[in-house]
Amino acid sequence: MEKDEIPLLTLLEGKQAMLAAIIESTDDTIISKDLEGIITSWNPAAQRMFGYSEIEAVGEHISLIIPEDRLDEEIFIIREVVRGNRINHFETIRRAKNGRLIPISLTISPISNRNGEIIGASKIARDITERREAAAKQGMLAAIVDTSDDTILSKTLDGIITSWNKAAVKMFGYTEDEAIGQHISLIIPTERLDEETFIISQVKQGNKVDHFQTLRRAKDGKLIPISLSVSPVTDSNGQVIGASKIARDISGEQAAQQEMAQLYEQLKVLNAKKDEFIGLASHELKTPLTSMKGYLQILAQRVTDEKNKLFVQKTQQQVDKLNALVDDLLDVSKIEAGKLKLNINEFDICRVIADAVDLISHANNNYSISFQAPVTKCMASGDAHRIEQVIVNFLTNAIRYSTDNQNINVFLTIEGGGIKVGVKDNGIGIAAEKLGDIFSRYYRVEEGAANVSGLGLGLYLCHEIITRHGGQIWADSELGKGSTFWFTLPSRP
Ligand code: ADP
Repeated sequence: MEKDEIPLLTLLEGKQAMLAAIIESTDDTIISKDLEGIITSWNPAAQRMFGYSEIEAVGEHISLIIPEDRLDEEIFIIREVVRGNRINHFETIRRAKNGRLIPISLTISPISNRNGEIIGASKIARDITERREAAAKQGMLAAIVDTSDDTILSKTLDGIITSWNKAAVKMFGYTEDEAIGQHISLIIPTERLDEETFIISQVKQGNKVDHFQTLRRAKDGKLIPISLSVSPVTDSNGQVIGASKIARDISGEQAAQQEMAQLYEQLKVLNAKKDEFIGLASHELKTPLTSMKGYLQILAQRVTDEKNKLFVQKTQQQVDKLNALVDDLLDVSKIEAGKLKLNINEFDICRVIADAVDLISHANNNYSISFQAPVTKCMASGDAHRIEQVIVNFLTNAIRYSTDNQNINVFLTIEGGGIKVGVKDNGIGIAAEKLGDIFSRYYRVEEGAANVSGLGLGLYLCHEIITRHGGQIWADSELGKGSTFWFTLPSRP
């Protein structure tokens, strides 16, 4: 049968069936109602949106889904429909069966019968929750950008400014109208235009440019030091379409940095002056001290009276102490000036240790100092006088930082061709967190050194001497139990 031979009724029936199928399967909510507002049809999407089944909805008044405060809308809608008008994209809120309010966009069209009389209305509703949320989010972001203290602007990949927040107005002096649509070179000093090429090339590859420190020019010509962070802006397909820039004025930071640098320089100069003064003062002290030592020696030979002999002896001891302090100060200034010389020779370190132990035992006979070594003679390469200084320092510290009648042990071992020397005391010990500092210049452990005079230089000098010999120096210690100070000397070449 030819198409034009199909009876009109059959054609209409076919069309109606097709429309019915579309309404059944569409994702859009389609509802119809008569002019009284009674629901006459309700598709599956309507059931999904509002939760009422077709049976529950058809025959009910449309107010079933209209929140009470919006019932007036229905009067307006029916009035328009009766006039034969269509209402497009009417944004409102409807209520689902579970009470949830759904933001929707409505399109309402009049339905007329064969005679052209309006008998009802069809409604197509679309859930706009997501669109609303996206719009709210966008609004919030816009508000953040607008109120941010940071300058935020965006531009196309051709460098045309597309947004310019209030902070940008404040920083550069151009209003939004003056800036938007202009090329970004508006604020770039001519000699820095290349930077823009670099930034855009990074952004095009999808890369971020972080904390880029540069200069930009304000409307009044003033150069502003800024830190820039530039991120690519992408469209919904992930295509880079522009860049957003956040700029922070770092003039304050730079000024602070400059001030710090200046202070640091001043401190360095002052420190150098202090070192120079210490060097000079100790040098000046050394000359009269040497004469005093000489005269005291003569005096010691001449004095016969026992009581006076003791006085001279005590004075000699004090002068020796003073001399040792001045020597330490002189050594420090030599180190600072890079002038501490080592006289490297072959020497028997067992002999040096034994002599040092004798010397210290003699002056401190209330301590018992032992020396253990697997050999009686052990040749080392180095400055014997300086190595003796280290051992004497370890021993005097072992005595100064322990109470009377304590044992002090000195060990020498030979390990892998190198020499290891340890001085162990049972004294006050050092807290673990302070151990790392004791070899620093002028450092003294507050609690431990409170009752002992000293300059905090001995271990610093020992450290310098041993490291310059290519050896290592360290201490093991337990607070309240005692310490062992160690040094090594590498094997002889
Ligand atoms: P000084 O003894 O003149 O203060 P040092 O450089 O020789 O200077 O020692 C630094 C600090 O290390 C001392 O002030 C002391 O607190 C601590 N110290 C050194 N040797 C010992 C030790 N054997 N026992 C406990 N503490 C020590």
